[in-house]
Amino acid sequence: MKKLLSLIVPVYNEEEVLPASYERMSAAMAALEGYDYEIIYVNDGSRDGTMKQLRKIAGEHADVHVVSFSRNFGHQLAVTAGMDRAKGDALIIIDADLQDPPEVIARLVEAWEQGADIAYGKRLKREGETIFKKLTAFCYYRLLNAMSAYPIPLDTGDFRLLDRKVADVFLKMREHNRFLRGMSGWMGFTSVPVEYVRHERQAGKTKYTLKKMLRLAFDGILGFSYKPMSLALYFGCAVMGVSLAGLIALIVLAATIGCAPWLWAVDALVLLNGITLVAIGIQGAYLNRVYDEVRQRPLYIVAEEL
Ligand code: UDP
Ligand code: MG
Repeated sequence: MKKLLSLIVPVYNEEEVLPASYERMSAAMAALEGYDYEIIYVNDGSRDGTMKQLRKIAGEHADVHVVSFSRNFGHQLAVTAGMDRAKGDALIIIDADLQDPPEVIARLVEAWEQGADIAYGKRLKREGETIFKKLTAFCYYRLLNAMSAYPIPLDTGDFRLLDRKVADVFLKMREHNRFLRGMSGWMGFTSVPVEYVRHERQAGKTKYTLKKMLRLAFDGILGFSYKPMSLALYFGCAVMGVSLAGLIALIVLAATIGCAPWLWAVDALVLLNGITLVAIGIQGAYLNRVYDEVRQRPLYIVAEEL
């Protein structure tokens, strides 16, 4: 029996690009010899003609499945809905705007056949994006990687292939604030980069507003790093250390040449602030544990059992 590939395409107000996008994606999928494929479009509450186009495409092609949200839930949830419905032996996530060339899918599949559980597209170059987007993305990926407790590959988006067993773990992770690339990194498995040049958006404008981008950036850091919480603790300890050293210096001064009374007050204030920060940090540590419990991520993930 042929292996089934599921292509997952989130769409939000993409009427300008959707017909061309379908043509290129279905051609790229059909060109893969020896596989069956399904294309799952998730309409993320589009308010333009996207749904009308999707109805037409699905009506004409039996291998197209369309899920339509009641409103805009965001890209990460759209991809999740697609993954929930995918039946494939491998799932491929791709943007609708042709920035990720569908022709690269063949290379993702090749990497998968050679043993990769996750084959992720790594952007060598980004074409046709603003300096602002390139710069913020460059800095953000590096900051995220430095902060994250798990490796999150640099310059990598959601364009990737996931083996069925990886997708099954995703299905078990029902956390609300989803950051798929972080979840992928957290899972482990054999992860292989496939380098490609990210093209310009074929038509239409970006659907990732600054607000959505910031939200995603926070989801990445808060979901995969304990460092923001530890910051108060470390800083508080440093402040306490400085004020205690100051206290010793003041005692020595008072016993020898004497010191101005207001210096005691200043030192006491600094010490109290240090104590407050440490207390906040400790609360943070407890909150972290609560966060870990409520997210209910799997305790461990088995890759293989003999
Ligand atoms: N998208 C979505 N919901 C949103 C925003 C975007 O489903 O709220 C889809 C969009 O249609 C596209 C993909 O997510 O297929 C990536 O969005 P976009 O190309 O606008 O982001 P950019 O490439 O500019 O970061
Ligand atoms: Mg895009």
